[in-house]
Amino acid sequence: MLYELTAHALHEKLKAREITAVALVESLYARIDAVEPHVKGYLTLTKDLALEQAHAADTGFQKGEDLPPLAGIPIAIKDVICTKGVRTTCASKILETFVPPYDATVMRKLHEQGVVVLGKTNMDEFAMGSSTENSAYQITHNPWNLDTIPGGSSGGSAAVVAADTAICSLGSDTGGSIRQPAALCGVVGMKPTYGRVSRYGLVAFASSLDQIGPFTKDVTDCALLLNAICGSDAMDATSVDVPVPDFTQSLINDVEGMKIGIPKEYFTPALDTEVADRVHTAIAVLEQLGATVEEISLPYTEYAIATYYIIAPAEASANLARYDGVRYGYRQENPEDLINMYKKTRSKGFGEEVKRRIMLGTFALSAGYQDAYYKKAQKARTLIKSDFDAAFEQVDVIATPTSPTPAFKIGERTADPLQMYLCDVMTTPASHAGLPGISVPCGLVQNGLPVGLQLLGAPFAEEKVLRVAYTFEQNTDHHLQKPQMHVNGATSS
Ligand code: GLN
Repeated sequence: MLYELTAHALHEKLKAREITAVALVESLYARIDAVEPHVKGYLTLTKDLALEQAHAADTGFQKGEDLPPLAGIPIAIKDVICTKGVRTTCASKILETFVPPYDATVMRKLHEQGVVVLGKTNMDEFAMGSSTENSAYQITHNPWNLDTIPGGSSGGSAAVVAADTAICSLGSDTGGSIRQPAALCGVVGMKPTYGRVSRYGLVAFASSLDQIGPFTKDVTDCALLLNAICGSDAMDATSVDVPVPDFTQSLINDVEGMKIGIPKEYFTPALDTEVADRVHTAIAVLEQLGATVEEISLPYTEYAIATYYIIAPAEASANLARYDGVRYGYRQENPEDLINMYKKTRSKGFGEEVKRRIMLGTFALSAGYQDAYYKKAQKARTLIKSDFDAAFEQVDVIATPTSPTPAFKIGERTADPLQMYLCDVMTTPASHAGLPGISVPCGLVQNGLPVGLQLLGAPFAEEKVLRVAYTFEQNTDHHLQKPQMHVNGATSS
């Protein structure tokens, strides 16, 4: 089926005019009709627009134009990225009616390639969460087991790629929100270096951490999407003006002589034993292929979560101040006065977790507490970063599990925010340091749920990360495994 294929395989077929982009998009929507009621990965579908975009791509292909690799490729977009004329809710009630008057820079770049946008994907409200259960609209189900969560906060973007209801997608990663759901849904997900991709038009959560990145079915597609979205942008002062290589040049099936560091702090008793086993097996594969594997130490790892849950809420409390009922979306009617309107709008418009973060962040920044919490967290962040700086003097790439456990049952952790925050224990350290990181599938646990291998690189060393990921993929078949979905009594693979 067309919907099962990768972007690079589909590009060959489109170019050879074996298939049309319209037939491809129709295949995707047929798949969406069949399985989306069970997965619930999308908040908005944009079929009419998608068909128009597919027609445009077909016109180009029919004229024999040499179109870019993503022309006519159906993609899904996390609902935190502004799409001109298409509702962008951040899975929050407060933005229920918000239709951006402009495109995010990544959208502009994707449109230049001629992509076909299928719709906007579900997420934790304002990207705060690890299970997508914090969406104000719906719960997304993990295609590998519909009773489990897909991870978060980009759970919709991960689930639709795993369910073959999109060929690829975009997500955002602040503390792990691309890598963790990629791991839990058995797909490839990459957070580029902080500054690689413009954040213009990405609704801000924690601005010193937020980064946009791809979800794909394999590492080749990941490189193609990176090629499309990376690059400095005058509209985002944090985007860095460094040359963007052609990432497909890093797709080299060879790790001979590369040094891979295994940080001992990531292999604690809290790590699920089956996850540990699959990750150790993956590392052994890389060693057999000629990489040198050595144990390293990142001693400040244990402070990453505490530090993250000060810095991210602090930035969020400032960023979310703009939702005041005046400028965007939802407003509570019949207020007594202006202050009462703000209060009512924000109390009703935001969900529990978002309010918890705003309160935590406001507290951490308040007079008298700022030194004890916010400034201390900034210092810890610097120490976490120096651990990585020292490690990358010694090794090319660092390998760890992406998530301490496979996907858990829907509802299992919602009562205990701390348990939910611990999902990010393996992903937040690299976020603090702004590093590029990828999660690639590395096997299934006994109950059939996927495990992800996380590979991290020094800032702007995406090429090394991709090379190791590609070599691993070329020599294993984990990425070819598909979930067997039991829907309507039938099995759909
Ligand atoms: N789970 C983390 C949080 O809730 C990470 C979220 C993200 O990366 N957007 O903050």
